[in-house]
Amino acid sequence: MIYLDNSSTTKQFSEVTRLMADVAENNFGNPSSLHQLGYESSNVLRKAIAQIDACFPSGGRTIVTSCGTESDNMALVSGSAKLKRQGRKIITTAVEHPAVLRTVERLKEEGWDIVLLPVDKEGTSSIEALEAELDENTVLVSIMTVNNETGTIQPVKKACTMVHNFAKEHGTRIFFHTDGVQAFGKIDLRNSDFDLISISAHKFHGPKGIGALYMKNGVNLPPFIMGGGQERGFRSGTENVPGIAGMGLAAQMSCTDMDEKNKKLSEVNNYLYNGLKANIKDIFINGPETIGTSLDEPGSRCPSLLNISFEGVRGEVLLHTLEQDEIYVSTGSACHSNNTGDSHVLTAMGRKHKEIEGAVRFSLGQFNTVEEMDVAIDRTAKAVERFRRLGSFR
Ligand code: PLP
Repeated sequence: MIYLDNSSTTKQFSEVTRLMADVAENNFGNPSSLHQLGYESSNVLRKAIAQIDACFPSGGRTIVTSCGTESDNMALVSGSAKLKRQGRKIITTAVEHPAVLRTVERLKEEGWDIVLLPVDKEGTSSIEALEAELDENTVLVSIMTVNNETGTIQPVKKACTMVHNFAKEHGTRIFFHTDGVQAFGKIDLRNSDFDLISISAHKFHGPKGIGALYMKNGVNLPPFIMGGGQERGFRSGTENVPGIAGMGLAAQMSCTDMDEKNKKLSEVNNYLYNGLKANIKDIFINGPETIGTSLDEPGSRCPSLLNISFEGVRGEVLLHTLEQDEIYVSTGSACHSNNTGDSHVLTAMGRKHKEIEGAVRFSLGQFNTVEEMDVAIDRTAKAVERFRRLGSFR
């Protein structure tokens, strides 16, 4: 099997699976219970939270959620609620994940003024448009760190500084949120001033159904889920102790030696891209050519992603053909691939319907090798050649 769909979800680290089984078996006490078993479970939580905290900027807290979608919802809904007396405008981008776009649509129905910033042809959102849109009515800006379809690293560092400077000059408050779901474990987020960061454990070799929202000190959002006061009152509900333990270990493992791992990931990604270009004509990349691995390289491509359009071939047909050889890729984004319409990301980048239809997303993880890419290139080239001969659009 060659798994190239790591942006949809990743294979869990074996160490994480073993730890979770052990915690489920031995730490079943409720962390809120006052007896010894409860105390032991709360210790498991404390350790895991410390592991996640170490991957975030210092001076904040980690609120555990059920997934990246919930983290995005919490940031936008609770963030806007907190500052609603100051203004009613939220700025985000046209290429966000539906977890952000559907939430701002709901807020729009409730009377919020929503602005979607445009992107250029490589999918980088416009910092000039952000500058033009910032005003005293703005309370929240949400820009993803890495796009989940193209891998484009967004100018979040610059945008965050601009937003905070604007707020300071005008004596207002504006929260800067970034959806860091695709970035966490690949792009170092520690050296940043973000107010809110969403992450999701299953994207960095952790378990599914668990995520987190980083909240900078002083942001103090109103609770998102009301109840018994867990997660310091921000999100009530008895904690998923094995899941949180698994997320903590996966975070620690993913954020260790990130430079070294990114170097390998970049080599594998470039090898795949160059191999596809050398063996298949009439293909083009959706997203930036150049790979980048830090917040200081906006407009470059995260080494985990490569989105390619194959002219005259339908991405979906290619996906199912590769699947027969146990090579797993996706078209657009699997998180919402049951939508029949064109990818909103590629559309915002100015791609035509036929180009979007021919798009395949190869997404890499820590377990992929150059040898696997040789097989993937060969099978893809053969399939594309066959479909072009037959005319797969017919
Ligand atoms: N944000 C981005 C950028 C994503 O890629 C995804 C999932 O693909 C999500 C949010 C949602 O994360 P989850 O699947 O944990 O709800």
